Amino acid sequence: MKTDIQEKLTELAFNRTTPFCYGCYVKAPKGVCSHCHSDDLMRELEGVGVEWGTEWVIKHILQEELTAIDTDEVFEDSIRGCYPEETVVGWLKLDTVEILKSQDPISWRIARDEYTDSLEQDEEIVSFDGGSNYYWKHDLESLLE
Ligand SMILES: [Zn+2]
Repeated sequence: MKTDIQEKLTELAFNRTTPFCYGCYVKAPKGVCSHCHSDDLMRELEGVGVEWGTEWVIKHILQEELTAIDTDEVFEDSIRGCYPEETVVGWLKLDTVEILKSQDPISWRIARDEYTDSLEQDEEIVSFDGGSNYYWKHDLESLLE
């Protein structure tokens, strides 16, 4: 699934960019430079820049057109769905999530990271940078439609 999306993103990056000969500093839309006949070309993304490869183009498209997931927020929503909104401690009615976070921030973070991993394993979310940024799969799919 992820390689599928990655392939489509690469395709999108190719479609949105123009081959560019850096030596002659001209566009080479045919894939061969009309000056030096080189086919060793960079990619130009209009108004953004010129670089080798498509990784940077993909990164730019993701940044501009999708919102990375706030994993803390997603986890919090899931916990709020699993437990009562308020927990009674003695005579206090307290916000369950706030108690969990404040009483044991380490276990909160561990549980959040496990939850994030499980979403990734279930292919609901995808990361292309080893987990620094996650995107919803359905967002990626609508971008690539
Ligand atoms: Zn050239």
